[in-house]
Amino acid sequence: MSTTTPWYAVFGQPVSHSRSPVIHAAFAAQQGTTLRYERMDCPSGGLRAALTEARTQGLAGANITLPLKAEAVSLCARLSLRAERAGAVNTLVPLSEGGWLGDNTDGAGLLQDLLARQQLAIAGRRLLLIGAGGAAAGVLPALLDQMPAMVAIVNRSPARAQELARRHGVHALAWEALSTAGSFDLVVHASAAGLGGTLPALPETLIAPGASACELSYGAAARPFLDWARAAGAKRVVDGLGMLVEQAALAYAQWHGTRPQTEPVYQQLRQDLPLP
Ligand code: NDP
Repeated sequence: MSTTTPWYAVFGQPVSHSRSPVIHAAFAAQQGTTLRYERMDCPSGGLRAALTEARTQGLAGANITLPLKAEAVSLCARLSLRAERAGAVNTLVPLSEGGWLGDNTDGAGLLQDLLARQQLAIAGRRLLLIGAGGAAAGVLPALLDQMPAMVAIVNRSPARAQELARRHGVHALAWEALSTAGSFDLVVHASAAGLGGTLPALPETLIAPGASACELSYGAAARPFLDWARAAGAKRVVDGLGMLVEQAALAYAQWHGTRPQTEPVYQQLRQDLPLP
């Protein structure tokens, strides 16, 4: 019998900014327990070796963040339906027979924040998704389930937007076409540009009267897009902090069998990370 204490981790690069250890510690505290949750810096192509090593040391569950969500798919023995639809994995659950079950809690986490906490409507709305990486892939199926009137995707690398759009039967837009693409009721920014403090040029005409804008990042990384959205006339702006807490709660439930309360943890984090 192993004497190794079970532990949890988030794998990605960059990962030093991740709030996941704080969130999972707060969830555990609600249950009157403690847990070990580490940040594991891991480059593209390095996930298999990192997971193999970590599992020998008692890794009992993992979150996967950028840029590893697609890479994680190929390492899983099984996928949940939502991970399969997304083609991206953000949560690994150990299987008793060995190997990992890959899940994706990003989409459900985003919906929980947008619909329940922010009281935003998606059904019947025109939606623009900016980005085509792991986060965009994770949230798109969940957004489509809400029956928006139409969905368009734009990405720095057009081929990735086209592939994601083709997979889900929605529109891919070229960046140069944005100025003539009309306006959208909900613009979701799922690119990692904000982590570098930048935002690609976006025409203000994208924001329809009364529109909402949602940035999946939080903290300083969310500022460029949220500033742009406010200047373009967005009525509501939302950052990714609520989604972060909700997707973490869904992962926690997979590992521990109990769904933690998210609102106190969200409010606690919000004190440190006000909406930029
Ligand atoms: P990936 O590395 O998988 O994808 C990155 C995406 O950002 C790609 O579409 C990439 O375009 C685009 N991109 C990167 N840099 C730039 C730039 N300078 N200009 C324009 N586009 C750029 O990352 P993820 O999809 O996993 O993460 C994206 C963001 O979402 C991150 O900021 C992450 O923190 C956030 N996130 C938040 C979550 C939450 O719970 N709140 C959950 C998941 C993610 P290209 O294809 O051309 O490379």
